[in-house]
Amino acid sequence: VSFGYADVPIEEKTGKVHAIFRNVASRYDLMNDAMSGGMHRLWKDRFVRRVKPRPGESILDMAGGTGDIAFRMAKAGANVTVADINGAMLEVGQQRALKRGLDGLIWAEENAETLSFADRQFDAYTIAFGIRNVTRVQQALEEAHRVLKRGGRFFCLEFSTTLWPGFGEIYDAYSHKLVPQIGKYVAGDEESYRYLIESIRRFPDMATFRGMIERAGFVRCSVEPLLGGLVAIHSGWKI
Ligand code: SAM
Repeated sequence: VSFGYADVPIEEKTGKVHAIFRNVASRYDLMNDAMSGGMHRLWKDRFVRRVKPRPGESILDMAGGTGDIAFRMAKAGANVTVADINGAMLEVGQQRALKRGLDGLIWAEENAETLSFADRQFDAYTIAFGIRNVTRVQQALEEAHRVLKRGGRFFCLEFSTTLWPGFGEIYDAYSHKLVPQIGKYVAGDEESYRYLIESIRRFPDMATFRGMIERAGFVRCSVEPLLGGLVAIHSGWKI
């Protein structure tokens, strides 16, 4: 597992990731806008349109962080549980929910690899820009499958590999040179953003990740690429 410049043993990754999001929590939302030029908002809107949250259904927003996905789904009337391994991110999220007058969300400190929820509890499971930070991705996918009801839906929004010729190179140059600089000036934390970019580069491509979702037991799996696959929405069903 690579962490910034240095290689870190897999058993240390969870701790490192925890430290990163604790450091960036208060500036996390600002950084998302700065890094994506506001585009993350459009990707998240698109993602939630795919999820189609229904009033009254129960949805687990895993690695929910400061609540961007959860708030969109709660506004549609779903009962949302926001789960994240990092209490600092959840705290920022709870404050944001208060400001927006959004009550009724459940906030839970959870590791995606070992959920404390019962089997077949949720109608849908969402994870946005979270799965690549998880140490044991296959285990997290199996947990997603376990906590979903039969007929439940799985959705994942994540950076992937763009297939548009030339675009990948431009993005690589941007992400490796500019993103750590933005991290330095906006969040005061260059190293954390170096890690985040590295984790994007190392994440499996769309077809491989889809295979992992199938291996976890999901069926009718599909992937919708955005910007040629720079970002991708993977989905699947539990039957
Ligand atoms: N979903 C939010 C969004 O789209 O704005 C937050 C995404 S943020 C880039 C990644 C989140 O994953 C962080 O809040 C981090 O704490 C969380 N995370 C990392 N590893 C995790 C794990 N093993 N289990 C649960 N959450 C995890």
